[in-house]
Amino acid sequence: MPADLLTCTTAAPPPAWTPDTFAPAILNWFAQHGRHDLPWQPPTTPYRVWVSEIMLQQTQVAVVTPYFTRFVTQFPTLAALASAPLDAVLQQWSGLGYYARARHLHRAAQLVVKQHCGELPTTLEQLTALPGIGRSTAGAILSLAYGQRQAILDGNVKRVLTRCFTVTGWPGEPAVTAHLWTLADQLTPSAATVAAYTQAIMDLGATCCTRAKPDCAHCPLAPRCQALALGQVADYPAPRPRRDLPVRAVQWLVLRSADTGAILLQQRPPSGIWGGLWTLPELPLEFDAAQWCLAHTASQPDHSVTLAPRRHTFTHFHLDIWPIVMTLNTVPTQFTAAAGQQWFSVDDCQTLGIPAPLRRLLAELSSITISGN
Ligand code: SF4
Repeated sequence: MPADLLTCTTAAPPPAWTPDTFAPAILNWFAQHGRHDLPWQPPTTPYRVWVSEIMLQQTQVAVVTPYFTRFVTQFPTLAALASAPLDAVLQQWSGLGYYARARHLHRAAQLVVKQHCGELPTTLEQLTALPGIGRSTAGAILSLAYGQRQAILDGNVKRVLTRCFTVTGWPGEPAVTAHLWTLADQLTPSAATVAAYTQAIMDLGATCCTRAKPDCAHCPLAPRCQALALGQVADYPAPRPRRDLPVRAVQWLVLRSADTGAILLQQRPPSGIWGGLWTLPELPLEFDAAQWCLAHTASQPDHSVTLAPRRHTFTHFHLDIWPIVMTLNTVPTQFTAAAGQQWFSVDDCQTLGIPAPLRRLLAELSSITISGN
């Protein structure tokens, strides 16, 4: 690529890519530089594409890869996933975050067995009617697994398109999203090459047109990339409008048995934050943890220590967690079943579906000695 393309800021930009030229440029690049050995390819089955696409939402390939491999080993088919208990699915998902994805995947598998004889449907309408499958995920399944001419618009594609065509406005705005879908659809090639193109544009966004430091010098779209020609790559895509997230603060009660080291966990309701996962008993910050312990276990904690607070950020709020570790000499059992609570050894905790902050806290606990324990 001529060096002046990297520095040009005043000359008129070159003509933009057209549907006739865009896909061939990316496909040529893909043949040489694309990723052809991802764990979900081959065999490229609808089920494997679906699982990988759900895992890849908001998560990078390097993180997803070991989870995907374990997941499809445990649940090799859609039928195996549908018949598994939700607990087992959440356990495989534990640490990957955004657990609603796992719940939706499981629920959708059950619906596919019930309504579509166990085969993922082959139309956009039927796919997007399933829990957790949006238009882009459906487009990826249909193009990658069924070879249908369908567009996708994941985060990588949005970044490539906003830069290449200087699309202004935050891509999360409905009008901007609609414009990007129109562009994505126009640029998608015919069925003959759609599967390779879908993988290619995702790869280009993930490995070349990256969020930070895009490698424009080696990008096949550089000769007609409008943002590059204008020297405005860093301005695209426009960031989400800033807003301060509210903060919620809670206590997490780590009740430990002095005898066995077992820890009391409780399972969350199936929907909502961390739905279906096992977590610690949680109290508002102003509540007295020792009182709670007395009221719920009929025992006074023998030792108690408050650990440093830690913050976990969700899309809509920050959760400030204050862990309190309390040791009980006697472990009552009669109250636990009724409240959906259960004592687990630390080793057993690691095999459950638990959220990432609890996993980190448990690792920390193993190195903490409470006086008298
Ligand atoms: S030239 Fe740079 S900004 Fe434009 S699409 Fe390629 S990597 Fe992205």
